[in-house]
Amino acid sequence: SDEFRGLRALVTGGASGIGLATAELLAARGAAVACLDLDGAAVPAPLLGVTADVTDDPAVRAAVAEAAARLGGLDVLVNNAGIGAQGTVEDNPDDQWHRVLDVNVLGIVRVTRAALPHLRRSAHAAIVNTCSIAATAGLPRRALYGASKGAVLSLTLAMAADHLADGVRVNCVNPGTVDTPWVGRLLDAAPDPGAERAALAARQPTGRLVRPEEVAEAIAHLAGPRAGATTGTWLAVDGGMAGL
Ligand code: NAD
Repeated sequence: SDEFRGLRALVTGGASGIGLATAELLAARGAAVACLDLDGAAVPAPLLGVTADVTDDPAVRAAVAEAAARLGGLDVLVNNAGIGAQGTVEDNPDDQWHRVLDVNVLGIVRVTRAALPHLRRSAHAAIVNTCSIAATAGLPRRALYGASKGAVLSLTLAMAADHLADGVRVNCVNPGTVDTPWVGRLLDAAPDPGAERAALAARQPTGRLVRPEEVAEAIAHLAGPRAGATTGTWLAVDGGMAGL
C-alpha cells in the first residue's frame, strides 16, 4: 500500500518498541518519517532521527522545527513517547507523579503545540496518541500510570474537538501488553525472566503478548487518509482484554 505517499510523519519515542514499529510501517507505506527521541542518533536510517526530551519545551520546539524543515512539512503526528510506573497511591512519591505526568501528558501537549502550525497546513492532518488499556481498566498497582493514560484519553477527545475545524483529526490507540523493550526490561528484572514471560503470556486472553507491529497497524489506520471520518475516538489493541 502507498497510502502515505507524499505525506510526512513525526513519531515520538520512535527509537524503540511501538514507536519504531510505527515509523517503519508508515515509511513502508510511503511516508517520509522523522522520529523524535532522547537520542535521535539511535534511530535507524532511512528514518530521520531528531533529539529531544519531551519534558524540555525549547528542545521539543527545536526538534519539531528541524523535522518539519527536513521533511518539508508535517501531516501526521504520533505522540507515543511514554514511561511507566508501578504502585498504589501509597507507593509513588510526588516527584515521581510529576515526572510521569510530565512525560506522558505534558509531553503530548508540548509536541502537539509545536506541530500544530505545520499540521494545519496539511490536507491530511492527523494526530494519534499512544494511550493504554490502563486508561479504561482498573489495573492493580498502576495508580499513577493509569491516571497519566486516563489524562491522555481525555486529552485526545478534547484535542479532537478543538482542532476539528482546522482539519486535524485526533485519535488514540489503547494497547494491552505489548512485547517491546519496555516489557522486556520489566521481565528481565524478575528472578526468572523466562518463567515470568510465560506467566505474563498465559494471563493474556489470547495466550500471547501483543506484537508492536499490531499496534503500529492500528496507529497507521487512524493516521491515514482512509480514516478521514474518524476523530475523537480510541482503538484497543489488547488481545480482547478490555472487553472481558
Ligand atoms: P519503549 O521503552 O520500548 O519505547 C519508548 C521510547 O520512548 C523509547 O525510545 C524512549 O527513549 C522514548 N522516550 C521515553 N521518554 C522520553 C522522553 N522524555 N522524551 C523523548 N522520548 C522518550 O516503550 P514502548 O513499550 O514501545 O512504549 C511506547 C508507548 O506505548 C508508551 O507511551 C507506553 O505508555 C505505551 N504502551 C506500552 C505498552 C506495552 O505493553 N509495552 C502498553 C500500553 C501502552
